[in-house]
Amino acid sequence: MALRSFVEIAKNSHFPMENLPFGVFKPHDGATRVGVAIGDLIVDLPVLEELGHFRSSEFQDRKIFSEDSLNAFLALGRPAWRKTREILQHLLSAETPTLRDDVRLREKVFHSQKDVVMKLPARIGNYTDFYSSYHHAHNVGTMLRGPENALMPNWKWLPVAYHGRASSVVISRTDVRRPQGQIKPPDASAPIFGPTKSLDYELEMAFLIGPGNSLGEPVPIDRAIDHIFGFVLMNDWSARDIQAWEYQPLGPFLAKNFCTSISPWVVTLEALDPFRKSLPRQDPEPLPYLRWKNDFTFDIRLEAHLQTSSMDAPHGITYTNFQNLYWSIAQQLAHHTVNGCNLEPGDLLASGTISGATEESRGCMLELTWRGANPFKLPNGEMRKWLENGDTLTITGWCQGDGYRIGFGEVSGRVLPVV
Ligand code: MN
Repeated sequence: MALRSFVEIAKNSHFPMENLPFGVFKPHDGATRVGVAIGDLIVDLPVLEELGHFRSSEFQDRKIFSEDSLNAFLALGRPAWRKTREILQHLLSAETPTLRDDVRLREKVFHSQKDVVMKLPARIGNYTDFYSSYHHAHNVGTMLRGPENALMPNWKWLPVAYHGRASSVVISRTDVRRPQGQIKPPDASAPIFGPTKSLDYELEMAFLIGPGNSLGEPVPIDRAIDHIFGFVLMNDWSARDIQAWEYQPLGPFLAKNFCTSISPWVVTLEALDPFRKSLPRQDPEPLPYLRWKNDFTFDIRLEAHLQTSSMDAPHGITYTNFQNLYWSIAQQLAHHTVNGCNLEPGDLLASGTISGATEESRGCMLELTWRGANPFKLPNGEMRKWLENGDTLTITGWCQGDGYRIGFGEVSGRVLPVV
């Protein structure tokens, strides 16, 4: 049974009362601040904060919503996140007159999403990218080493990851500049320098860290969820030719750190709660620090759409699901901190490319075209092995509820040529 608001919300909206995702926005006539999406609107939280709606003990007498990032709110932890959600679901309810019957207050509190500029939701101090989809790792490994040696021996024992670059994480709709770098053609004895010829996307999701842990103090797996605020969609733009030459022995570097795009609205674990699913079976059984009897994943539908500069509309090229991940978010977080590594509020931990068993569920062009060997045809007849200049890649996702959707909006970016 859907919750009712006095705000009009379209049936297929990503942002019904059950969702209430958090983001950071700049209205045309004011400072950057924190808001919550409902339908096509944004709730201006500093306005409600000034009116005294967030004064309970969970907020520790601090003004947190007039800041230009979610970091202070993230640090407060789940009691404050739950309280905010409860207050907003009450204020936005069809039964509550406070906003419903006060036109002048509503004019201050609501902004139209199309009238504001969305900003990065957090100051991201650190960004980590996992490699947790079995089918993605298996496909890529098969291309590089053949099917017998597709998975490295460690892959089913630990959630493999690399430390990414936080400074080049950008908000959706930021153009991505085609990177240049060293590329070694397979038959050449020395590398050449030039623009990447194999620019790719990676369909991923990422979660934001709430309260951190102290250096030297691992987070046990049964407490991992306390440190996770919510999810965004992510595109980990990748230059495959640069990657192929640089990645050994220390992993991804310039092939990845030129740009990583995320969606603006952070969907909370509270909103995702009804969509929990049990994890797929893990064999071999993980070591004890990665085992939790209540561990779970989520049923989140995920799609990638490509629109070239000569197409009228985007065309779907990936159809996958968050459930295709082998390692859970609790396992990722427990593993990340097991050596005492300290996570901090606003850190971003990403899933890795989310591919499934079917061809349509492959989450990047490397897999879709099998390293460029099988180009695909778009509805207007154009062929693609890799992304071309002028292409726009958009990732979207949602959980399908009974009569409502918990959506993530979208993350999109257009490819620009080398300067
Ligand atoms: Mn990635």
